[in-house]
Amino acid sequence: MVGLFLSNPIQMPTALITGASKGIGRAIAEEFARRGINLLLTARDETLLQQGTDELISKYGIRVAFLALDLTSTDAATQLASWATRQAPDLNILVNNAGYGLSGNFEKYSALQHEEMMQVNMNVPLELCLLLLPHLRRQEKGYILNISSSAAYQAVPGLTVYAASKSFMLSFSRGLRYELRKTNISVTAVCPGATDTDFPKRAQVGAKAQKAADKFNMKPEEVAKQAVEAMFAEKAEYVTGVVNKLGAFLAWLFPKSMAEKAAAGIYEL
Ligand code: NAP
Repeated sequence: MVGLFLSNPIQMPTALITGASKGIGRAIAEEFARRGINLLLTARDETLLQQGTDELISKYGIRVAFLALDLTSTDAATQLASWATRQAPDLNILVNNAGYGLSGNFEKYSALQHEEMMQVNMNVPLELCLLLLPHLRRQEKGYILNISSSAAYQAVPGLTVYAASKSFMLSFSRGLRYELRKTNISVTAVCPGATDTDFPKRAQVGAKAQKAADKFNMKPEEVAKQAVEAMFAEKAEYVTGVVNKLGAFLAWLFPKSMAEKAAAGIYEL
């Protein structure tokens, strides 16, 4: 674990972004930076985090610190929350973005592999909310932005546990949002569809799924722009892109078995 520690704490507004080394998380960092919001970035890849930090500081003149951390490690959420609140006592935005998928049959993976993914996709976001809510409550305005997925709207054979983890994130966000409705904190769940990042590579999706994604891929910059706008507009739930909005509607409209069969075809099951 390596971090860049600042001698003076960052003043608000400040956003903590998980999975900020690349992809959607890196693009969300840029969206905040252009609004003058200071940043705390985390992911595993220290080199990418250092590069991103240097670029954002030189381009926007904001304050940025990073912590290289594997979210599957013991007490990762506690370490991250305590680092973040030391760096920025007035931290007011939490973005739970880090996540990944594992494609193929459920039985292809060990319990540990499934559990590690669930740790990154669900447990750490849940723990970070719990640990950081007291800090967010003390701010004039607090935001939680949870990155779910269009996979939250249906079972996805071939990405079964991933889709279930994203359904969890959507339902968790909506429930928490309601509980916090009389507070200063707004919770938003954003559901991107296929986005041009390293996600398919890490999930090891097959050629057919990659081809389908390539047809509809959005750029991470566009997803990040829509996500950050939805967060500041205090939306409960937001699906990025027209095609993905239509997909979520069709998944609701048609029998579940049809949507599941279509997804299974893409994942070649
Ligand atoms: P990505 O380019 O692979 O980025 C994933 C981020 O999560 C990286 O910064 C990665 O950093 C971090 N991460 C992964 N495992 C981690 C771990 N064990 N500990 C700490 N950080 C970890 O993929 P992306 O598409 O931007 O994904 C961002 C979010 O969008 C995810 O929650 C994903 O489920 C969601 N999403 C993506 C798509 C899509 O099609 N791309 C669609 C819907 C939803 P390191 O590798 O440096 O650790």
